[in-house]
Amino acid sequence: MTALSAPRRPPVTLARVSRVSVVDTVTERLASLISEGHIRPGERLPSEQELMAQLQVGRSSIREAIRGLALIGVVETRQKRGTIVLSPAAGAPHPARPLADWALKDLFAVRAALEGLAAQSAAEAATPAELAAIARHAASIEQRIARGRSYFSENRAFHLAIAGASHNAVLVNCLSIVIGGLRDVRESLHLMQEGTPSRDIAEHRQIVAALQARAPARARRLMEAHLLRAVQHLQRPASAGAKTEGGRRGRMKA
Ligand SMILES: [Zn+2]
Repeated sequence: MTALSAPRRPPVTLARVSRVSVVDTVTERLASLISEGHIRPGERLPSEQELMAQLQVGRSSIREAIRGLALIGVVETRQKRGTIVLSPAAGAPHPARPLADWALKDLFAVRAALEGLAAQSAAEAATPAELAAIARHAASIEQRIARGRSYFSENRAFHLAIAGASHNAVLVNCLSIVIGGLRDVRESLHLMQEGTPSRDIAEHRQIVAALQARAPARARRLMEAHLLRAVQHLQRPASAGAKTEGGRRGRMKA
């Protein structure tokens, strides 16, 4: 960041936010096609070309949305067969990844590692403007909570802003996929119960304070604990045949 005297936010930041929201919209459309049964397990998603034409978005957005869905075990891309919808039910014929608690635990373990690193780096590298933006996202989460509204978008913006303030482009790319995938799990497939908004507020405030204090080790520890807390209530299934349909519970806003 060398544009010390730039009066406005650099346009690259705006481009990134808008691209993520396009990916998000595509992810939601695909997830609802699947969750509403229009495309069933074992069937193929429409081709990239069809999706580009129907949704009027670029190839990279389609691919990123599909990568997010693949990451959480909703679809699988197979050579020459296209992208196949996987069965979410335990005991399905396909041996691969049911959308299950263990997958979410795995995802949050990765998120905790990556976002811990992001917070550590951000405590060292964030510009004052970035710190202010992170604090604004935290405040807007609190406003949404106070009004009883869902805060998924603001929450993701908060976490991605910290990733961005690490000034590590690889981290930003990895986290935009992982966090997008988790949002899809929670909102479109209705697996999650209520989060714990008051704890989110408290923990976000502590993280913001650590970043502002330029305390890398503390920022990392707080972020890791924040994310691992989100999945601590999830259990691994007692047996492979255990049906958890409609009953998965977790406290996962993070
Ligand atoms: Zn959070």
